[in-house]
Amino acid sequence: MKIPFNRPFMTGRELWYIAQAHANAHLSGDGPFTKRCHAWLEQETRTKKALLTQSCTAALEMSALMLDLQPGDEVIMPSFTFVSTANAFVLRGAVPVFVDIRKDTLNIDERLIEAAITPRTKAICVVHYAGVSCEMDPIMDIAARHGIAVIEDAAQGIFSRYNGRPLGSIGQFGALSFHETKNVISGEGGALLVNDPAGVERAEIIREKGTNRSKFFRGQVDKYTWVDVGSSYLPGEIIAAFLAAQFEEAEAITARRLAMWDRYHAWAEPLERAGRLRRPIVPDNCTHNAHMYYLLLDDLADRTHFIETLKAKDIGAVFHYIPLHSSPAGMKYGRAHGGMSVTDSISDRLVRMPLWCGLEEHMDFVLETASAALAR
Ligand SMILES: *Cc1c(COP(=O)(O)O)cnc(C)c1O
Repeated sequence: MKIPFNRPFMTGRELWYIAQAHANAHLSGDGPFTKRCHAWLEQETRTKKALLTQSCTAALEMSALMLDLQPGDEVIMPSFTFVSTANAFVLRGAVPVFVDIRKDTLNIDERLIEAAITPRTKAICVVHYAGVSCEMDPIMDIAARHGIAVIEDAAQGIFSRYNGRPLGSIGQFGALSFHETKNVISGEGGALLVNDPAGVERAEIIREKGTNRSKFFRGQVDKYTWVDVGSSYLPGEIIAAFLAAQFEEAEAITARRLAMWDRYHAWAEPLERAGRLRRPIVPDNCTHNAHMYYLLLDDLADRTHFIETLKAKDIGAVFHYIPLHSSPAGMKYGRAHGGMSVTDSISDRLVRMPLWCGLEEHMDFVLETASAALAR
Protein backbone atom coordinates (compact mmCIF):
# COMPACT_ATOMS: atom_id res chain seq x y z
CA MET A 1 0.00 0.00 0.00
CA LYS A 2 1.65 3.25 -1.14
CA ILE A 3 -0.72 5.40 0.90
CA PRO A 4 -1.60 3.35 3.95
CA PHE A 5 -4.65 4.06 6.06
CA ASN A 6 -2.39 4.95 8.98
CA ARG A 7 1.31 5.68 9.36
CA PRO A 8 2.55 6.37 12.88
CA PHE A 9 4.14 9.80 13.13
CA MET A 10 7.35 10.11 15.11
CA THR A 11 8.75 13.45 16.17
CA GLY A 12 12.42 12.39 16.16
CA ARG A 13 12.93 13.10 19.85
CA GLU A 14 11.55 9.74 21.02
CA LEU A 15 14.90 7.96 20.65
CA TRP A 16 16.74 10.69 22.54
CA TYR A 17 14.32 10.42 25.46
CA ILE A 18 14.53 6.63 25.37
CA ALA A 19 18.32 6.98 25.56
CA GLN A 20 17.85 9.18 28.63
CA ALA A 21 15.58 6.58 30.23
CA HIS A 22 18.28 4.03 29.47
CA ALA A 23 20.89 6.25 31.14
CA ASN A 24 18.59 6.86 34.13
CA ALA A 25 18.57 3.08 34.63
CA HIS A 26 14.98 3.30 35.81
CA LEU A 27 13.08 1.03 33.43
CA SER A 28 10.03 -0.06 35.42
CA GLY A 29 7.05 2.28 35.74
CA ASP A 30 6.54 5.59 37.54
CA GLY A 31 10.02 7.01 36.92
CA PRO A 32 10.81 10.58 35.82
CA PHE A 33 9.31 10.26 32.32
CA THR A 34 6.05 8.84 33.66
CA LYS A 35 5.85 11.74 36.13
CA ARG A 36 6.45 14.20 33.29
CA CYS A 37 3.64 12.60 31.28
CA HIS A 38 1.28 12.68 34.28
CA ALA A 39 1.95 16.37 34.84
CA TRP A 40 1.39 17.17 31.15
CA LEU A 41 -1.88 15.23 31.06
CA GLU A 42 -3.16 16.78 34.29
CA GLN A 43 -2.51 20.25 32.95
CA GLU A 44 -3.87 19.53 29.48
CA THR A 45 -7.06 17.78 30.64
CA ARG A 46 -7.48 19.76 33.89
CA THR A 47 -8.07 16.51 35.75
CA LYS A 48 -7.29 15.74 39.36
CA LYS A 49 -5.08 12.73 38.59
CA ALA A 50 -3.76 11.19 35.37
CA LEU A 51 -2.17 7.75 35.46
CA LEU A 52 -0.41 6.20 32.48
CA THR A 53 -1.61 2.71 31.66
CA GLN A 54 -0.54 0.12 29.11
CA SER A 55 -3.58 0.89 26.97
CA CYS A 56 -6.98 2.52 26.96
CA THR A 57 -8.32 -1.00 27.43
CA ALA A 58 -6.35 -1.24 30.70
CA ALA A 59 -7.69 2.16 31.82
CA LEU A 60 -11.25 0.97 31.16
CA GLU A 61 -10.56 -2.23 33.10
CA MET A 62 -9.29 -0.14 35.99
CA SER A 63 -12.46 1.94 35.98
CA ALA A 64 -14.52 -1.26 36.04
CA LEU A 65 -12.54 -2.42 39.11
CA MET A 66 -12.98 0.99 40.76
CA LEU A 67 -16.76 0.62 40.44
CA ASP A 68 -16.75 -2.76 42.28
CA LEU A 69 -19.04 -4.23 39.64
CA GLN A 70 -20.70 -7.52 40.53
CA PRO A 71 -21.82 -10.25 38.12
CA GLY A 72 -25.14 -9.22 36.59
CA ASP A 73 -24.59 -5.48 37.05
CA GLU A 74 -25.33 -3.51 33.90
CA VAL A 75 -23.37 -0.88 32.02
CA ILE A 76 -25.09 1.18 29.31
CA MET A 77 -22.99 1.91 26.23
CA PRO A 78 -23.21 2.30 22.46
CA SER A 79 -22.94 -0.76 20.23
CA PHE A 80 -21.07 1.28 17.63
CA THR A 81 -17.66 1.15 19.35
CA PHE A 82 -14.46 -0.83 19.74
CA VAL A 83 -14.69 -4.10 21.70
CA SER A 84 -12.71 -2.81 24.69
CA THR A 85 -15.57 -0.53 25.73
CA ALA A 86 -17.60 -3.67 26.49
CA ASN A 87 -14.87 -6.18 27.36
CA ALA A 88 -13.56 -4.16 30.30
CA PHE A 89 -16.91 -4.61 32.06
CA VAL A 90 -17.63 -8.15 30.83
CA LEU A 91 -14.39 -9.20 32.54
CA ARG A 92 -16.07 -8.25 35.84
CA GLY A 93 -19.20 -10.26 34.97
CA ALA A 94 -21.18 -7.14 34.10
CA VAL A 95 -23.67 -7.03 31.22
CA PRO A 96 -23.21 -4.41 28.49
CA VAL A 97 -26.58 -2.91 27.58
CA PHE A 98 -26.35 -1.44 24.11
CA VAL A 99 -28.37 1.56 22.99
CA ASP A 100 -28.51 3.16 19.57
CA ILE A 101 -26.50 6.17 18.42
CA ARG A 102 -27.40 9.64 17.13
CA LYS A 103 -27.52 10.11 13.37
CA ASP A 104 -25.47 13.31 13.48
CA THR A 105 -22.42 12.64 15.70
CA LEU A 106 -22.71 8.82 15.74
CA ASN A 107 -22.39 9.07 19.54
CA ILE A 108 -24.66 7.31 22.03
CA ASP A 109 -28.17 8.81 21.79
CA GLU A 110 -28.60 10.39 25.21
CA ARG A 111 -32.40 10.44 24.72
CA LEU A 112 -32.42 6.62 24.81
CA ILE A 113 -30.34 6.15 27.95
CA GLU A 114 -32.92 6.68 30.67
CA ALA A 115 -35.29 4.00 29.34
CA ALA A 116 -32.42 1.47 29.43
CA ILE A 117 -31.74 2.01 33.15
CA THR A 118 -32.77 -0.84 35.49
CA PRO A 119 -32.12 -1.46 39.20
CA ARG A 120 -28.91 -3.27 38.12
CA THR A 121 -27.49 -0.36 36.11
CA LYS A 122 -24.23 0.81 37.67
CA ALA A 123 -22.69 2.97 34.98
CA ILE A 124 -22.92 4.60 31.57
CA CYS A 125 -19.81 4.25 29.42
CA VAL A 126 -19.91 6.90 26.71
CA VAL A 127 -17.63 6.88 23.67
CA HIS A 128 -16.60 10.17 22.08
CA TYR A 129 -16.61 8.94 18.51
CA ALA A 130 -14.06 10.52 16.16
CA GLY A 131 -13.02 12.87 18.96
CA VAL A 132 -16.41 14.61 18.91
CA SER A 133 -18.05 14.78 22.31
CA CYS A 134 -21.22 13.06 23.42
CA GLU A 135 -23.94 15.33 24.88
CA MET A 136 -22.37 15.25 28.32
CA ASP A 137 -24.64 17.71 30.19
CA PRO A 138 -27.82 15.62 29.83
CA ILE A 139 -25.85 12.41 30.33
CA MET A 140 -24.31 13.66 33.60
CA ASP A 141 -27.79 14.77 34.72
CA ILE A 142 -29.32 11.35 34.06
CA ALA A 143 -26.45 9.64 35.90
CA ALA A 144 -26.74 11.96 38.90
CA ARG A 145 -30.49 11.44 39.12
CA HIS A 146 -30.06 7.64 39.14
CA GLY A 147 -26.90 7.55 41.25
CA ILE A 148 -24.82 5.82 38.60
CA ALA A 149 -21.31 6.52 37.33
CA VAL A 150 -20.18 7.91 33.98
CA ILE A 151 -17.03 6.61 32.34
CA GLU A 152 -15.74 8.37 29.26
CA ASP A 153 -14.08 6.21 26.67
CA ALA A 154 -12.04 9.13 25.35
CA ALA A 155 -9.66 6.87 23.41
CA GLN A 156 -10.08 9.15 20.39
CA GLY A 157 -10.55 12.37 22.32
CA ILE A 158 -7.25 13.94 23.37
CA PHE A 159 -7.44 17.77 22.97
CA SER A 160 -11.17 17.68 22.13
CA ARG A 161 -13.60 19.71 24.19
CA TYR A 162 -17.28 19.86 25.18
CA ASN A 163 -18.46 23.36 26.16
CA GLY A 164 -14.77 24.12 26.69
CA ARG A 165 -14.11 21.11 28.92
CA PRO A 166 -11.48 18.53 27.89
CA LEU A 167 -12.90 15.09 27.09
CA GLY A 168 -12.14 12.52 29.76
CA SER A 169 -12.42 15.13 32.52
CA ILE A 170 -16.21 15.24 32.78
CA GLY A 171 -17.31 11.79 34.06
CA GLN A 172 -15.96 9.97 37.12
CA PHE A 173 -13.26 8.43 34.93
CA GLY A 174 -11.82 9.07 31.50
CA ALA A 175 -9.79 6.61 29.45
CA LEU A 176 -7.34 7.82 26.78
CA SER A 177 -5.47 5.78 24.17
CA PHE A 178 -1.98 6.27 22.78
CA HIS A 179 -2.22 3.32 20.40
CA GLU A 180 -0.35 4.01 17.18
CA THR A 181 -3.61 4.62 15.30
CA LYS A 182 -4.52 7.55 17.58
CA ASN A 183 -3.37 11.19 17.40
CA VAL A 184 -0.60 11.03 20.01
CA ILE A 185 1.08 7.68 20.37
CA SER A 186 3.43 5.35 22.21
CA GLY A 187 2.77 2.16 20.20
CA GLU A 188 0.51 0.68 22.81
CA GLY A 189 -0.42 2.99 25.66
CA GLY A 190 -3.15 4.83 27.47
CA ALA A 191 -4.11 6.78 30.55
CA LEU A 192 -6.79 6.78 33.20
CA LEU A 193 -8.08 10.19 34.25
CA VAL A 194 -9.47 10.12 37.79
CA ASN A 195 -11.75 13.10 38.23
CA ASP A 196 -13.02 12.39 41.75
CA PRO A 197 -10.27 13.21 44.28
CA ALA A 198 -11.67 10.47 46.56
CA GLY A 199 -10.82 7.85 43.93
CA VAL A 200 -7.17 8.74 43.39
CA GLU A 201 -5.61 6.59 46.11
CA ARG A 202 -7.56 3.48 45.13
CA ALA A 203 -6.69 3.98 41.45
CA GLU A 204 -2.99 4.08 42.35
CA ILE A 205 -3.40 0.86 44.33
CA ILE A 206 -5.31 -1.01 41.61
CA ARG A 207 -2.71 0.04 39.04
CA GLU A 208 0.16 -1.24 41.21
CA LYS A 209 -0.98 -4.85 41.73
CA GLY A 210 -3.29 -4.00 44.63
CA THR A 211 -0.42 -2.67 46.75
CA ASN A 212 0.11 0.67 48.46
CA ARG A 213 3.48 1.06 46.73
CA SER A 214 2.80 4.65 45.60
CA LYS A 215 2.10 5.74 49.17
CA PHE A 216 5.19 3.88 50.37
CA PHE A 217 7.41 5.74 47.89
CA ARG A 218 5.94 9.04 49.00
CA GLY A 219 6.83 8.11 52.58
CA GLN A 220 3.17 8.10 53.65
CA VAL A 221 3.29 4.53 54.98
CA ASP A 222 6.27 2.61 56.33
CA LYS A 223 5.31 -0.79 54.90
CA TYR A 224 4.41 -1.69 51.35
CA THR A 225 1.83 -4.45 51.26
CA TRP A 226 -1.22 -6.00 49.53
CA VAL A 227 -4.27 -3.91 50.39
CA ASP A 228 -6.84 -4.39 47.57
CA VAL A 229 -7.54 -6.12 44.26
CA GLY A 230 -5.39 -4.94 41.39
CA SER A 231 -3.17 -5.84 38.51
CA SER A 232 -0.13 -4.48 36.69
CA TYR A 233 -1.54 -1.67 34.59
CA LEU A 234 1.42 0.71 34.47
CA PRO A 235 3.76 1.01 31.47
CA GLY A 236 7.55 0.98 31.79
CA GLU A 237 9.69 4.10 31.42
CA ILE A 238 10.72 3.35 27.82
CA ILE A 239 7.08 3.81 26.75
CA ALA A 240 6.72 6.92 28.91
CA ALA A 241 9.91 8.39 27.38
CA PHE A 242 8.48 7.86 23.90
CA LEU A 243 5.20 9.43 24.94
CA ALA A 244 6.89 12.45 26.55
CA ALA A 245 8.41 13.29 23.16
CA GLN A 246 4.99 12.99 21.52
CA PHE A 247 3.35 15.24 24.11
CA GLU A 248 5.82 18.00 23.31
CA GLU A 249 4.64 17.93 19.69
CA ALA A 250 0.99 17.19 20.40
CA GLU A 251 -0.24 20.66 19.50
CA ALA A 252 1.65 20.71 16.21
CA ILE A 253 0.40 17.19 15.39
CA THR A 254 -3.19 18.26 16.06
CA ALA A 255 -2.80 21.39 13.91
CA ARG A 256 -1.54 19.32 10.99
CA ARG A 257 -4.37 16.83 11.36
CA LEU A 258 -6.94 19.63 11.53
CA ALA A 259 -5.60 21.15 8.32
CA MET A 260 -6.01 17.80 6.52
CA TRP A 261 -9.45 17.28 8.07
CA ASP A 262 -10.49 20.71 6.79
CA ARG A 263 -9.26 19.81 3.31
CA TYR A 264 -11.34 16.65 3.27
CA HIS A 265 -14.32 18.59 4.57
CA ALA A 266 -14.06 21.30 1.89
CA TRP A 267 -13.58 18.68 -0.83
CA ALA A 268 -16.66 16.74 0.31
CA GLU A 269 -18.92 19.80 0.57
CA PRO A 270 -20.12 19.88 -3.08
CA LEU A 271 -20.49 16.08 -3.01
CA GLU A 272 -22.73 16.39 0.02
CA ARG A 273 -24.75 19.14 -1.66
CA ALA A 274 -25.20 16.87 -4.67
CA GLY A 275 -26.55 14.16 -2.35
CA ARG A 276 -23.62 11.85 -3.03
CA LEU A 277 -22.48 11.40 0.58
CA ARG A 278 -22.80 12.80 4.08
CA ARG A 279 -19.96 14.56 5.90
CA PRO A 280 -19.13 14.40 9.64
CA ILE A 281 -21.16 16.77 11.84
CA VAL A 282 -19.47 18.63 14.70
CA PRO A 283 -21.95 20.41 17.00
CA ASP A 284 -21.21 24.05 17.87
CA ASN A 285 -20.42 23.27 21.51
CA CYS A 286 -17.78 20.69 20.55
CA THR A 287 -14.17 21.34 19.55
CA HIS A 288 -12.71 18.31 17.83
CA ASN A 289 -9.17 17.04 17.37
CA ALA A 290 -9.31 15.73 13.78
CA HIS A 291 -8.91 12.18 14.99
CA MET A 292 -10.82 10.86 12.03
CA TYR A 293 -12.28 11.85 8.68
CA TYR A 294 -15.11 9.62 7.60
CA LEU A 295 -17.70 9.66 4.83
CA LEU A 296 -21.18 8.17 4.95
CA LEU A 297 -22.08 6.61 1.60
CA ASP A 298 -25.45 5.32 0.38
CA ASP A 299 -25.18 1.65 1.22
CA LEU A 300 -22.86 -1.30 1.65
CA ALA A 301 -22.42 -1.88 -2.09
CA ASP A 302 -21.50 1.76 -2.62
CA ARG A 303 -18.95 1.62 0.19
CA THR A 304 -17.43 -1.64 -1.01
CA HIS A 305 -17.00 -0.17 -4.48
CA PHE A 306 -15.39 2.96 -3.02
CA ILE A 307 -12.91 1.05 -0.85
CA GLU A 308 -12.00 -1.31 -3.71
CA THR A 309 -11.47 1.59 -6.11
CA LEU A 310 -9.09 3.31 -3.70
CA LYS A 311 -7.32 0.04 -2.97
CA ALA A 312 -6.67 -0.45 -6.70
CA LYS A 313 -4.75 2.85 -6.53
CA ASP A 314 -2.89 1.71 -3.42
CA ILE A 315 -4.81 3.99 -1.04
CA GLY A 316 -5.95 2.52 2.27
CA ALA A 317 -9.49 3.43 3.31
CA VAL A 318 -11.18 1.26 5.94
CA PHE A 319 -14.48 0.67 7.66
CA HIS A 320 -15.52 -0.12 11.24
CA TYR A 321 -17.23 -1.16 13.55
CA ILE A 322 -19.06 -4.46 13.34
CA PRO A 323 -21.78 -3.50 15.87
CA LEU A 324 -21.16 -5.14 19.23
CA HIS A 325 -24.81 -6.12 19.70
CA SER A 326 -24.64 -8.40 16.64
CA SER A 327 -21.11 -9.76 17.23
CA PRO A 328 -20.75 -13.29 18.69
CA ALA A 329 -19.40 -12.10 22.06
CA GLY A 330 -21.83 -9.18 22.20
CA MET A 331 -24.77 -11.57 21.82
CA LYS A 332 -23.33 -13.89 24.47
CA TYR A 333 -22.43 -11.29 27.10
CA GLY A 334 -24.61 -8.28 26.36
CA ARG A 335 -28.05 -7.26 25.23
CA ALA A 336 -29.53 -4.53 23.09
CA HIS A 337 -32.09 -2.17 24.54
CA GLY A 338 -34.42 -0.98 21.80
CA GLY A 339 -33.82 -0.87 18.08
CA MET A 340 -30.35 -0.52 16.59
CA SER A 341 -31.30 0.84 13.18
CA VAL A 342 -28.90 3.81 13.17
CA THR A 343 -26.00 1.65 14.37
CA ASP A 344 -26.70 -1.02 11.74
CA SER A 345 -27.05 1.51 8.95
CA ILE A 346 -23.91 3.50 9.85
CA SER A 347 -21.88 0.34 10.22
CA ASP A 348 -22.64 -0.54 6.57
CA ARG A 349 -22.05 2.92 5.14
CA LEU A 350 -19.12 4.50 6.96
CA VAL A 351 -15.66 4.68 5.42
CA ARG A 352 -12.59 6.20 7.10
CA MET A 353 -10.15 8.12 4.95
CA PRO A 354 -6.38 8.01 5.58
CA LEU A 355 -5.34 10.78 7.99
CA TRP A 356 -1.77 10.99 9.30
CA CYS A 357 1.05 13.51 9.53
CA GLY A 358 2.95 13.20 6.25
CA LEU A 359 -0.17 12.54 4.17
CA GLU A 360 -0.19 16.23 3.14
CA GLU A 361 1.92 15.62 0.04
CA HIS A 362 -0.45 12.86 -1.13
CA MET A 363 -3.72 14.69 -0.46
CA ASP A 364 -4.25 15.82 -4.08
CA PHE A 365 -3.94 12.26 -5.30
CA VAL A 366 -6.20 10.88 -2.55
CA LEU A 367 -8.94 13.45 -3.28
CA GLU A 368 -8.67 12.98 -7.03
CA THR A 369 -8.97 9.21 -6.66
CA ALA A 370 -11.84 9.53 -4.20
CA SER A 371 -13.70 11.89 -6.56
CA ALA A 372 -13.30 9.40 -9.40
CA ALA A 373 -14.51 6.55 -7.16
CA LEU A 374 -17.65 8.54 -6.32
CA ALA A 375 -18.48 9.51 -9.92
CA ARG A 376 -21.50 7.80 -11.46
C1 LIG B 1 -8.61 2.64 20.24
C2 LIG B 1 -9.82 2.51 21.07
C3 LIG B 1 -9.83 1.74 22.25
C4 LIG B 1 -8.69 0.87 22.66
O1 LIG B 1 -7.51 1.56 22.89
P1 LIG B 1 -6.21 0.71 23.28
O2 LIG B 1 -5.27 1.76 23.77
O3 LIG B 1 -5.74 0.05 22.01
O4 LIG B 1 -6.58 -0.25 24.32
C5 LIG B 1 -10.97 1.74 23.02
N1 LIG B 1 -12.07 2.44 22.68
C6 LIG B 1 -12.11 3.18 21.55
C7 LIG B 1 -13.35 3.95 21.22
C8 LIG B 1 -10.99 3.22 20.70
O5 LIG B 1 -11.04 3.96 19.58
